[in-house]
Amino acid sequence: MSQNNSSPLQTVDIDSTEEKLDYFNLEPIHLPGFIQPHGVLLVLEEPRLKIVQVSNNTESFLGIPPEKLLNYSLSKFFPRTQIRNLKKIIDRNEFETVNLVKLKIKKDGEYLFIDGVLHRNNDGVLIIELEQSIYRDDLDFIGFYHSLKSAAANIQKTSSLSEMYQAIVQEIRNMVKCDRVMVYKFDKNWNGEVVAEDKREDIESFLGLHYPDADTKPCRNFYSEHWLRLIVDVNAESADLLPVNYPETNLPLDLGNSVLRGLSPCHREYLQNMGICSTLVMPLKRSGQLWGLISCHHYTPKKVSYELRQACEFLSQIISSELIAKEEAEDYDYKIKLKSIHTKLTEYISIKNNFIDGLIADSPNLLDLVNAQGAAIYWQGDFTTIGNVPQNPHLKGLIEWLKNNIQAAVFETKSLPFLYPEAEKYKNIASGLLAISILPKNYICWFRPEFIQTVKWAGNPHNTVVKKIDSEGVVRLSPRGSFAVWKEIVRLNSLAWKSCEIEAAKDLRSAIVNIALRQADEQAKLTQELERSNEDLEKFAYVASHDLQEPLNLVSSYVQLLEMRYRDRLDEDAKEFINFAVDGVTHMQTLIDDLLTYSRVGTQDKKFVKIEVEDVINRACTNLQEKIQTNEVTIMRDLLPSIFGDRTQLIQVFQNLIGNAIKFRKEEKPHIQIRVEENEDHYLFSVRDNGIGIELQFSDRIFTIFQRLHSRDEYPGTGIGLALCKKIIERHEGSIWFESELRKGSTFYFTIPR
Ligand code: ADP
Repeated sequence: MSQNNSSPLQTVDIDSTEEKLDYFNLEPIHLPGFIQPHGVLLVLEEPRLKIVQVSNNTESFLGIPPEKLLNYSLSKFFPRTQIRNLKKIIDRNEFETVNLVKLKIKKDGEYLFIDGVLHRNNDGVLIIELEQSIYRDDLDFIGFYHSLKSAAANIQKTSSLSEMYQAIVQEIRNMVKCDRVMVYKFDKNWNGEVVAEDKREDIESFLGLHYPDADTKPCRNFYSEHWLRLIVDVNAESADLLPVNYPETNLPLDLGNSVLRGLSPCHREYLQNMGICSTLVMPLKRSGQLWGLISCHHYTPKKVSYELRQACEFLSQIISSELIAKEEAEDYDYKIKLKSIHTKLTEYISIKNNFIDGLIADSPNLLDLVNAQGAAIYWQGDFTTIGNVPQNPHLKGLIEWLKNNIQAAVFETKSLPFLYPEAEKYKNIASGLLAISILPKNYICWFRPEFIQTVKWAGNPHNTVVKKIDSEGVVRLSPRGSFAVWKEIVRLNSLAWKSCEIEAAKDLRSAIVNIALRQADEQAKLTQELERSNEDLEKFAYVASHDLQEPLNLVSSYVQLLEMRYRDRLDEDAKEFINFAVDGVTHMQTLIDDLLTYSRVGTQDKKFVKIEVEDVINRACTNLQEKIQTNEVTIMRDLLPSIFGDRTQLIQVFQNLIGNAIKFRKEEKPHIQIRVEENEDHYLFSVRDNGIGIELQFSDRIFTIFQRLHSRDEYPGTGIGLALCKKIIERHEGSIWFESELRKGSTFYFTIPR
């Protein structure tokens, strides 16, 4: 950090951490006990309007010494009509709308025109503050109205925020006629930055300067509730109240709503250190929240008429209501672009089964949505990343930190290392973090790298306010003595996330939550339906195969009986018909047997046991012995392992695969190779033949029940064998597939976990 500073403030008790200072107790700004001397303050007791407390400057202002006012009714000093007007306001309790009473009093033989501002303080005490009316012939009512209207129009017609700020300072300076007007904008931490300025040419510029939180801390509450504060002359001696305390309570009088309220010693010193004599400040509010200030400076004392102050208040209210509209119009094109990216991403995630693919696989992707350099999706314990992201262990640490520290569904920071020091290690990747939680403890995180910036502070921001003991031995607050520019190199920060980007992240979160929930719901329904239809099918297959077997056996027996008994009397055609019937019945019996076996695969919850594959294959070959011999099959096999599984079912698998290898043979003698490969977590078995081969376009079909690639005339079969194999292998948590070349042979592969 470099410093360009003059001599520091001489203090007794230096405490540079301003957070520790108790502003409210050390500088209760609403209880100063004195007012600014350009007006007088009278505290009135109802109903007679008896003056019970008064500022000590009445003699110079009204020509009446304070002692002569105390305990007298106000009506003693002002004409009856004016008192009547005053009472009307009090009776109607119209303090919010009409609080100005024009008064007139004779002083030194001449009429003094007075603006009387009537209000109740927070304890309900009635107070009237009198200021001399300022006559300005350039501000007759119509002229005044027109200048206000044109100022408002000039501010409203600007097309961007920066243009609006500039119009504000120009229009206000034009109206108030002061040396400098600034728009001062607060950041998240209540530090302020001068974002626009209009000034006398010969004075130095404050544009772009930053002011620390502490500078405005004591007055921010005030501006949340009030629309204007005028200090006419910082150097003028204040007028004390007489008596010092409010007589009824003997406590300091609450001057929180008073327009003449004296300025606190710390504030006075602050302005004096800046070399300023007079200030007029109006708050800017966004949705009712303090957003910034319009600050007018003058280097000599400056009175501002009641009417002009009202106009300024009115303007700052208009500007406040304009802020949201202008902010929304800002970055319009960029916002439209983000909306269209959002729409595309939502479309991708709703078509893909897995929302993560939808977010990263296409263009635009997750990064484009918030203009980030890297992003990580943490979903059910796994990371999927895109762009520049911290290494895996760092990501894990960050997710743990999020889980333990962040409750909000959307979280953003441009200075992660300050919240989570571990992140300094990867500041070049993730000084900025924007995170949304999609389900509890599942996140999408976007990252931005460090962006080193120079911030110009108006004076040392780390030593803004200190405690010091004044000449009477009282501890007071004292501001920094110098406002010479301090340059601070800001590290470990990224570029800030724009509010439209944060909105985009929020919208994406809702979309994912909705779509993921819908997909989960659909998946659950589908699974339920599948389970039901599987169950139905299994039940049906079981019942059908059982119940059909009996009548079928009957048909088969009678057809055979018919053939035996009437053989001699039947002609050749009849014999052929009977043969067809017998064939049909036999096929149907095989079909039913196969179906029964198929339907039982999932329902048998036999425990897996250790089995020798060698033994399983021997058994399958024994079952196929006749076919093996007839077709002169040679079978070559590897040394086979022992595995865990269901013995009967694995015999069925090998029997089907070997059976098919024989059935779908070419002219040449079938040669079958059974091999095994041992992998880290599974065995890979293969059964290779030199048969007719399978067209690859049918690869999906052959594992589906009843799907056959040939007619039964060519090759007998039911189309259940491979479906059965698949079901059995899946029950063993393995998978099955094949490779084939037409007229050269096929290899069926399947895996069994170790
Ligand atoms: P099936 O053998 O009863 O027809 P499968 O389910 O066992 O029923 O096989 C389905 C289809 O896959 C067969 O009809 C056949 O077209 C094809 N197929 C299976 N194994 C082989 C093989 N080793 N060589 C060529 N085609 C095969």
